[in-house]
Amino acid sequence: MVRTRGSGSGGAPARNGDWLFLADALCADFANTLRDRWRPTARETLIEPRDLTAWVVRAGITSEAHPCSPADLARARELRDAVIATLEQRAGVPEVAVVNAATTAAPRRELTAAANGVQVSAGAAGDVGAGLGLVAADLIDLVAAGRLPQVKECAHARCGLLYVDRSRGARRRWCSMQRCGNRAKVQRHARRTGDGADG
Ligand SMILES: [Zn+2]
Repeated sequence: MVRTRGSGSGGAPARNGDWLFLADALCADFANTLRDRWRPTARETLIEPRDLTAWVVRAGITSEAHPCSPADLARARELRDAVIATLEQRAGVPEVAVVNAATTAAPRRELTAAANGVQVSAGAAGDVGAGLGLVAADLIDLVAAGRLPQVKECAHARCGLLYVDRSRGARRRWCSMQRCGNRAKVQRHARRTGDGADG
């Protein structure tokens, strides 16, 4: 695979299909829409408003595509910066204000009586703003559950994806075994056999 260090978002634009949902938390999946943060310039995958529309559907937040404006996209990126800062435990007053403001658009949670007991249902997000509200609410739930210390960055030097390590004994090292776990295995093998394969 050809990699150009520092190419930032100047390469081929990342569109639908280049999103990963392996962080075990909606808010961290959203943080990971800013990819390759190990590079000097990270790679943006929410390039146009329609990318945000598509991400919200792919994330399962809304069942249908809702139109999204450039202002929505700017707000989403601002929320994402705040989410990343919070996950990395470096959020200050401006970042928490952004998160708190976003939650006001989240659909109300309600109790539903079902055969197997009472459950909590988050109402469906009726637009992209409500979807982002759910992302912000998910972050607050994560903090409330005391899980911030479980947020990790993938151990692969060329990844940078964030995830919540919910594994027993906190042993998870990779964003996923299939992705970076295998990459690392291949690289270790290449070093041992001296064929110098990379990436
Ligand atoms: Zn990884």
